[in-house]
Amino acid sequence: MLRFDKIVRFMVVAFIVGGVVGLVGGLVFGGGNTAAAPDATVSAAAGESQAVSGRSGSAETQKAAPMTAEGAKAIGANEFGLIPVLEYHKIGTPESQWTRTPEHFREDIALLKSAGFFPINLGDLVDLSIDVPAGKSPIVITFDDSSPGQYRILEDGAVDPDSGFGILQKAAEAGGWAPRASFFVLLDVRPNDNVLFGQPDRQTEKLRSLVSSGYEVGSHTVTHLNLKKAAEAEARKQLAVSKATIEKYVGGGYKVRTMSVPFGEYPADDALLASGEYEGMPYSYKGAVEVTGGSSLSPFTKGFQPLHIPRIQVTGSALQDLIDMFSANPELRYVSDGDPAAVSAPATLAKKLGTPLSELGRPVIRY
Ligand SMILES: [Zn+2]
Repeated sequence: MLRFDKIVRFMVVAFIVGGVVGLVGGLVFGGGNTAAAPDATVSAAAGESQAVSGRSGSAETQKAAPMTAEGAKAIGANEFGLIPVLEYHKIGTPESQWTRTPEHFREDIALLKSAGFFPINLGDLVDLSIDVPAGKSPIVITFDDSSPGQYRILEDGAVDPDSGFGILQKAAEAGGWAPRASFFVLLDVRPNDNVLFGQPDRQTEKLRSLVSSGYEVGSHTVTHLNLKKAAEAEARKQLAVSKATIEKYVGGGYKVRTMSVPFGEYPADDALLASGEYEGMPYSYKGAVEVTGGSSLSPFTKGFQPLHIPRIQVTGSALQDLIDMFSANPELRYVSDGDPAAVSAPATLAKKLGTPLSELGRPVIRY
């Protein structure tokens, strides 16, 4: 009887110890995933597989640590905050206020990094798929007009380290930054230099390498068409042809979903941008950017209009002014909880952030 009792006690102890060991093992495993995630994100510098592993790294983090109110508060998450969408034109030797020198652009990225920003594509914004590390603030970098300084290949085949693409790639390789930005390209304009970054024999290669590295290529129409003044048939033609042509060049099932409206001149009816058809060629755009207007509202708020996303022109001290504004008004800033599957924010929001959408199709955590 006593002996049997001992055996039972031994079994109970063994069962408890085994359970605890299993639990500890599980925690260690979860911790390992969490630790691995930032590396995976950081290493997402170039190449499709790395970009993909960066994404799955974040998904692992999400599995290991579901968001809680305490966690969101500790991070200071506010996913109803403003998201700046930056607008760049030329990168190169100064010609006008629209040109950023390579040194300027490098400094811009360094400034954004040190101020806690982390890049996403415009398509991620309109898809409500904002995947940046906890505590970071998303930023969208956009380029209009596909001028040569945005992406140049040198005679030896290397990417020009002073071109926009070269500078962004270097920033991603250095860590704390991802290969994300949106390039709105032209297909038939004078000067030819603005046709897909110049270098006619390199066009397909450039579009493919942008997309496979993690960047987005969107439409800026075929000829930089003024959609407000253009006949509706011409507008539909260019919206359809630009999308189809970019998709053909990139290949691999790539879909163009965003555009930059030339001159910020919108057609009379947004429906023309949203979707249409030209000679049996259908098109649709989920997101479109304006040329001015300041930071964007969070896509999780009622005021967010995906076809009218405002931008900030990066000229002079505009970027420093933006960072100063967020330092003075931290309650306006979008701060990620690190979990793309949940939306976290303080219980009380600044009025300027507008009203959260009532149905987000995902958990909302307020603290
Ligand atoms: Zn333009």
